Amino acid sequence: MEKSANCPTPRLRKGENVNGFIVRRVEAVDDICCTAYEMEHLATGAKVLHLHGHDSENLFAVGFRTPPWDSTGIAHILEHSVLAGSERYPVKDAFNELSRATLQTFINAFTYPDKTLYPVASQVPVDYFNLAQVYTDLVLKPRILKETFLQEGHHLEFVRPDDPASDLTVSGIVYNEMKGAYSSPDGLMYKALQQNLFPDNSYGFDSGGDPQAIPRLTWEQLREFHRLYYSPTNAYFFLYGNIPPEDHLAFLEDVLRGFGKVRVESAIGLQPRWAAPRSVRDCYPVGKGESLARKTAVNLAWMMADNTDPGEVLLLRIAAHALVGTAAGPLRKALIDSGLGEDLSPVTGLESDLRQVVFAVGLRGTDADKAGAVEGLVRNTLEDLAKKGFERDLIEAALHQVEFHGKEIVRGGYPYGITLMGRVFHTWLYDGDPLVPLKFNPLIERIRSRLEKEPGLFQDVIRRWFLDNPHRLVSVMEPDHNCMEQEEARFRQRMAELKATLSEKDHERIRDEAARLKELQSQPDSPEALAALPRLKRSDIPREVERIPSEEGRVGGIPVLKHEVFGNGIVYLDCAFDVSHVHEDLQPCLPLLGKFARGMGAAGRRYDEMATRISKAMGGLAVQLASGFGRDGKETWQKMIVRMRALHRNIPEAVELLGDILAAGDLTDRRRMEDLVLEKRNGLQAAVVPSGHLFAQRTAASTLTLPARRDEQWNGLIQLRLLNSLASRFSAEPLAETMQCLRGGVFGRGGLLINVTGDAAGIDLLLSRIEGLTERLESSASGKPAASMPPEPMQIGVSIAAQVCYVAQAAAAPGYLDPASAALSVVSRELSKGYLYNRIRVQGGAYGGMSLYDPLGRIFSFLSYRDPNLAETLKVYEGAARWLLDAGIRPEEMEKTIIGTIGSLDRPADPSGKGYLSMIRHFAGITDANRQAFRDRVLDLSPEEFLKTVREVLIPILKESSVAVYAGEDRLARANETLVPKLVVEPLMG
Ligand SMILES: [Zn+2]
Repeated sequence: MEKSANCPTPRLRKGENVNGFIVRRVEAVDDICCTAYEMEHLATGAKVLHLHGHDSENLFAVGFRTPPWDSTGIAHILEHSVLAGSERYPVKDAFNELSRATLQTFINAFTYPDKTLYPVASQVPVDYFNLAQVYTDLVLKPRILKETFLQEGHHLEFVRPDDPASDLTVSGIVYNEMKGAYSSPDGLMYKALQQNLFPDNSYGFDSGGDPQAIPRLTWEQLREFHRLYYSPTNAYFFLYGNIPPEDHLAFLEDVLRGFGKVRVESAIGLQPRWAAPRSVRDCYPVGKGESLARKTAVNLAWMMADNTDPGEVLLLRIAAHALVGTAAGPLRKALIDSGLGEDLSPVTGLESDLRQVVFAVGLRGTDADKAGAVEGLVRNTLEDLAKKGFERDLIEAALHQVEFHGKEIVRGGYPYGITLMGRVFHTWLYDGDPLVPLKFNPLIERIRSRLEKEPGLFQDVIRRWFLDNPHRLVSVMEPDHNCMEQEEARFRQRMAELKATLSEKDHERIRDEAARLKELQSQPDSPEALAALPRLKRSDIPREVERIPSEEGRVGGIPVLKHEVFGNGIVYLDCAFDVSHVHEDLQPCLPLLGKFARGMGAAGRRYDEMATRISKAMGGLAVQLASGFGRDGKETWQKMIVRMRALHRNIPEAVELLGDILAAGDLTDRRRMEDLVLEKRNGLQAAVVPSGHLFAQRTAASTLTLPARRDEQWNGLIQLRLLNSLASRFSAEPLAETMQCLRGGVFGRGGLLINVTGDAAGIDLLLSRIEGLTERLESSASGKPAASMPPEPMQIGVSIAAQVCYVAQAAAAPGYLDPASAALSVVSRELSKGYLYNRIRVQGGAYGGMSLYDPLGRIFSFLSYRDPNLAETLKVYEGAARWLLDAGIRPEEMEKTIIGTIGSLDRPADPSGKGYLSMIRHFAGITDANRQAFRDRVLDLSPEEFLKTVREVLIPILKESSVAVYAGEDRLARANETLVPKLVVEPLMG
């Protein structure tokens, strides 16, 4: 991601006609250093927006407005189905082919309530245009075969396929995906708000699909939906990166040839404003033994301004930040301090992916009979604010946050282009100006000057959009032991009724359809079909690894790593403290130490004052724990990393503040401590169902290596159980004592390493202040690296309230510097994209099945996501290595997998990520020469060596593997009837 601080020189002129496109607008967007081109394809009316910048990770996205007309998941199932294949690319699963055999740095598709987007990204221009070519063809001319609809959407099956006497059931990938989504309380809360706030437009339906409604969708309806919405006339092409605009237009002219303008009615209607508030009640599933007390969520939501009015939306964004964005927010504080519930509900904040934006706030960990009190409290707090106004500092902090996040180049799981795309669509999709959401600085300036003239500006906002706005919903989400069973019983009943009406002929049709589907799924694509896809060759791949600038030094006796990269005016500081000496029993307490450091008072100031200071001076403050093996592969390293980011102008204040937090943290506010414990427990607990595969993977790996055990203690089941026991029997004294003693041992100079990333000016500014920070820390002894532990495989089942399973198997594996590591990462990739994808997703109906190999943590694993199967999935894992040996690997297949593996090694990072990655490599003792050797081994891998690695490395390590399954109690019990060895079953909370 090379960037500079200037917008590229314009290459096209307004009014010009280029390749059949009229250039409507050319404009510099200084805040993100891009030149923007808004264009329109004259023949079809297709809209094109190109943000031309310096980023080599180019993004191509085509989107359509797709408002659904029911909750059958029609838009979502179509999203899955078009990616299967087109006339020109008649493979079974084009998406999987692209994702496995290109250098894509991102490939996905998203169904929103009102649009469907298909983005791909790559750093290599030929690869980029290959991807864009196939993606455009797939969406505009898909095959949408009946079999694809059955597989991706839904189909009937007998539980025992050859036995029509057995029960009838429904299967399908989206069907199972949405069953998983409907098991997550957070997901259900969002749905309840959106669907009930917008009963009169398409937001009243679930575009993802309600599992109850999905089976009603027909193949014909699906094809009709495509015909209506997927035309160039209804298309939005969003392009971002350093490829010049004229190259894009030449490409687009080609792919749009032959299409004309059609009539499309896809505008998203405004929801009429209500005359009076409304309320709804819903339930979510909890485990049988769990208590129901304090498990309800009470949410309030308002429908607010139209997204095409960015000035008003920005006022609301600032108001939302001031109200609930930090611990000092008066609405957040009032709710937490009231003791009416445990912490704020995850829906809290401003939602701007809809035509009219929504503000929501709520409490979870409460009871249904407190709904009235919660509502009253929110109202009183808002009335008070409307009268007295906000503290000026809260508004300043919110303005700073908007400025910071508008400026920061972020690439976490998503390319930076995806972030920009998200902002653009907030207005573009509703016929507003697509560039306004990118030009935050002028908007912020306008608000500042308005504030000078109208000091009551935000009091008016509170009155207009909150107090005097009758379009308000109260949504109560209660826990229920039976709602899942009732739903399943209703489902079984429906299936039984349906079955009773079936004739012998219907039985035959269901069996035939299922058999045909299975057969198609197990047949490989023909070589001709595969050859139609554009391919890179091994020789197209950059041979050299990308190097991150890194310079070692010392400041005041403390080791420092410096990484000079373009940061757009932002600098990043990581303080890595050694924690390997922390006693085994206290390791699980470390995440709370981080939480308290960020969330409590310091240096004589209360927690809320600190929150405002942090929010005014820093772009963010995070504490992370990380662990891995050192260079020799025996000793391990374990670090607590305090990560801070700030605009250059705020560095002095930010460093001072960080010093207060690390050296003068205050643990006397016991009430606040309890709130933070509850917040952390609830957050982690809510993550279990949406990330069940990761929880299962951590649990399975936790008895194999020390870094994996740390991961479980810090982020997994052990962490959750600790938080739960602290939360349910909160006792401040012993906890404060533990934290005090931990803090003394962790936040010292002894094992500290300073890691700084940004441009030269920012780094210098920061380092000139850093001694002032480190001098405030006590001189502690640095810990000794700890040896790892012998692996002890186990089989465990963790019971959770979910309608799907998460099945993981893990084994201790060779490390990064082992000669087998490169081949093993290719093996893992091949299994993920081939065997496991086919068996677990395509044939098994799970949302995902994959293999992960982490050479730094030395773990090889198999996992499944939202899986309807359990014992069958374990059998699939068991057969994986054998399958590779029996099937062998053809040279073309090998080529594809190698390209894909390199693609996954070449994931670009944002400035913060580059600095962090380089620091982790430093701890692991991995040099650029090691990385080059690893890359060379991947590129030169032969089929013989690939199979030899399966035989001599993979098969032996899998013999000593662990299994962990997160699933419903009854599913675990049923699986244990046949499993050998049986799973040791435990409830989630122990
Ligand atoms: Zn999906």
